[in-house]
Amino acid sequence: MIIPKASKLDSKQIKEIEKIVSEFDCNILEIQGHNQCVYAILGDETHALMFKRIAGLSYIRKVDAIESPYKLMDRRSALSDHQVQVGISTVGKDSPFIIGGPCTIDPNEPRLYIDTAHALKEAGVNALRGGVWKPRTNPYSYQGDNKAIEIIIQAREETGLPIDVEVMDSEQLTIAMEAQVDILQVGTRNALNYSLLKEIGKLSAGTGSGVLLKRGRHVASPNEFIAAAEYLVAEGNPNVMLCPRGTTPALDGYRNHPDESITPLLKNRTWAPVVVDPSHSVGHAEYVLACSLSAIAYGADGLCIESHIDPARGIGDDPKQAITPKRMKELIASCREIWAHRYQVKD
Ligand code: PEP
Ligand code: MN
Repeated sequence: MIIPKASKLDSKQIKEIEKIVSEFDCNILEIQGHNQCVYAILGDETHALMFKRIAGLSYIRKVDAIESPYKLMDRRSALSDHQVQVGISTVGKDSPFIIGGPCTIDPNEPRLYIDTAHALKEAGVNALRGGVWKPRTNPYSYQGDNKAIEIIIQAREETGLPIDVEVMDSEQLTIAMEAQVDILQVGTRNALNYSLLKEIGKLSAGTGSGVLLKRGRHVASPNEFIAAAEYLVAEGNPNVMLCPRGTTPALDGYRNHPDESITPLLKNRTWAPVVVDPSHSVGHAEYVLACSLSAIAYGADGLCIESHIDPARGIGDDPKQAITPKRMKELIASCREIWAHRYQVKD
């Protein structure tokens, strides 16, 4: 990875570097960080001579060769001080970054979504979630509706909060990008869909939008999870948040196997913020608080929580796992206490 002295290379400098790397069958890719651009070397970047020639250029600060399956996501990479910005929040900076909202937006009941959005703003969330298109295990269950994107856009306009929407294919991605969705969510079922990850990384590069990458239900190791995120960053979007959301159930009673304890393992290996989803991890509204507190205690930077003003009237997962905005407010206060304690202990 190439790190220039200035915040960015100019076009003449890019041309000069491209000429050098092309002699070694490599190419470069610009990755726009918050304050600084870095340039990944694509191809076999083990050529010492190539490194030396680039490092010798007067406008280059350094050239890093990280031996890692995820050299951009690695803690030691030049992106290690990259911070993910969503709306006015820097994820994980001063308090837990909270995404809240229904599992699924009911296109026939827009008021329920809008009222939930206002109540959640009042409760203190930093971003709104809402499923426009749904990956459903049962093919006969509600699959989503393009109309719902208008409802979540309206909620963003009325509350001023950024929005998080899951996309599963190119068509949905195009609609979400046109709507300037602030966080593109990749669900557990697509967590290892490398073509989709590449497409999202490429199309969202330089737009400032974040990507919430859920952990695959069957993803075994932290490294496999981080390597999936590498696909997004390697295509040019470093605004990645890693989202553990439970894996294949081992405990009879939870929907999935809660995996918030993976957080410190991820944080030791990568710079990316971890935003845990307690709702899908446990699958029952009554256990969401405990899982959230545990996630923050383990070092999570934020939470993505299903919440609905009237869960019984919701669709998708809402009747069983959404918490009310009132509970959300209490949850945020408790999480902040643990967060503050965590920082005291650290200091
Ligand atoms: C969701 O967030 O509603 C969802 C479907 O999540 P997951 O992909 O984690 O199941
Ligand atoms: Mn859901």
